[in-house]
Amino acid sequence: MMDAYRRWIGENRDCIRKDYFEFLAFQSISSELQYAKQVRACAKWVVLYLQSCGFGAELVETSGHPVVWGEDLSAGSDRPMLLIYGHYDVQPVDPLELWKSPPFEATERDGKVFARGAVDDKGQIFYAMCAMKMLRSLHGGLPINVKFCIEGEEESGSEGLADALPRMQKRLRADSLLVVDYDSYDEKTPAINLGARGIMTLSVSLTGSNGDLHSGIYGGIAYNPNRAMAELLASLYDCEGRVAVDGFYDGVREPTAEEIRSFGRDEDILRYAKEAGIEAFGGEKGRSLSEANLLRPVLEINGIAGGYAGSGFKTVIPAKTVAKLSCRLVPGQDPDDVGHKIARFLKGRCPRGMKIDVDLNRGAAAYRANLSSRLAQAIGLASEEVMRRPCKRVLSGASVPIVGALARAAGADIVGMGYGLVTDLIHAPNEHFDFPRLERGLLTVARGLELL
Ligand SMILES: [Zn+2]
Repeated sequence: MMDAYRRWIGENRDCIRKDYFEFLAFQSISSELQYAKQVRACAKWVVLYLQSCGFGAELVETSGHPVVWGEDLSAGSDRPMLLIYGHYDVQPVDPLELWKSPPFEATERDGKVFARGAVDDKGQIFYAMCAMKMLRSLHGGLPINVKFCIEGEEESGSEGLADALPRMQKRLRADSLLVVDYDSYDEKTPAINLGARGIMTLSVSLTGSNGDLHSGIYGGIAYNPNRAMAELLASLYDCEGRVAVDGFYDGVREPTAEEIRSFGRDEDILRYAKEAGIEAFGGEKGRSLSEANLLRPVLEINGIAGGYAGSGFKTVIPAKTVAKLSCRLVPGQDPDDVGHKIARFLKGRCPRGMKIDVDLNRGAAAYRANLSSRLAQAIGLASEEVMRRPCKRVLSGASVPIVGALARAAGADIVGMGYGLVTDLIHAPNEHFDFPRLERGLLTVARGLELL
C-alpha cells in the first residue's frame, strides 16, 4: 500500500503544493483583532478543502473565532471513530524585518518552505486532511469514521473551543483523538506524544503604602513590600527543592519504573540544558532530569516587579510589588485546588498590615495517554513503517490546555503526532517545513487509519 500512496503523492504533487500554499496565504493571526476577517476567511477555506476531501464540513460559531468541523461517517457504525484535532490560526509575525521572505507568501528556499504556519499548525493539519483526499481517491472511501475539529484560537488560549465543548460533546464522541500538532523525536526518528503537564498561573501583589516612599524618611519603619515578596517567594520551596505549599503534592503518585523507562531522556535534556547555557540545576533533589522535567509538578516564579531597577539609583521603598507564578501539573492534581492552596499559603505568611492580592487564572489539568491504546499502537506502527526506525514514546513538559479537555469531552484515547522539529522556528521569523516531512505526515496518517 505504501508504494501506491507514494505514487499518488508523486502524481498529485503540484496540486498538493498549490493547496498548501493557498492555505498558508491567509493571515489567520488569532490574537490580533484586526485579522478577524482573515481568520474567518481561512476557516472557510478549510471547510471547502474538507468538502473537496469528501467530508461534510461547516463552521461552528464560538465566543471567539469559529471552529471548523468536518466528518465522514460513511465507514459505518461498526467501525472505529477517530477525531482529529489541529488548528488553522497562527502566531503573529513580528519582528517582520527578520523574515527573509514575506510570512504569508510561502517561499521555497534550499528545499524548505518558509511561511508563518508552514509547520504550526497549517502544514501539519494540512497533511492530515490531504491523507483523507488520498484515501478517498485510491479506495473510494475511508476505512474508519473520521471527524475533524480544527480550531482558530490555539495560539491565543482556545477559549472559544473550551466554551463550546459542553454543547459539542455529542458530536465530539470518538474512540480515539489524534492531535496533529507535535514534533518528531529528531530528523530521523518518529515520536508519538502520550501526555503533557497541566498548568495553573497566578499573580501575587503586595501593597504596603499609598505611594512609593523615601527610604531615608521611612526606612526602618515600613515593611518593604519587596522584602516581604522575597521572603514569601523563598518560603515556597524547601531546602530539597520541593514545593513547600501544604497539599501541593496531594494526588500526585510516584512515577512508575515503566514510566521512567519509557519516557526517560536525561541525555537529551542535559544536552538542551547545556545548549541554553544552564549550569545551575534547580529541580528536586534525588530526582532525575526526566522525572523533574516530565513526571513531577513544578512551581516557577516567572516575573517579579516592584520599586526601581533602572539605571543609577532611586532610594525608594516601593508602594507595591508584583510576582507572576506558574505551576506545571501532573495527573492527579486539580489546577484550581492547587491555585487555592498556593493562595492560602501566601496569605497565611503575608506580614500583618500589608495588603496581599492573589489572582488565579483558568488552569488546565495534565493528561496522560494509555501507552497501549489502539491509537497509540496504530500511529506508532505507521510512523515506524514510514520512517523505518523505532518510534519513541514521549511526554511533553509543556502544556496543551485544550487537548486534555477535548479528550475528556470526546471520551477518547489520545495520541499526539507530528513531524515538526525544534529547529523549524515555529512562532519565530522564518518558520519553515519541507515536503519530505509533509509527505511522511500524510503517509503516517493514512497508514494509521488503515491500522486502526
Ligand atoms: Zn500548534
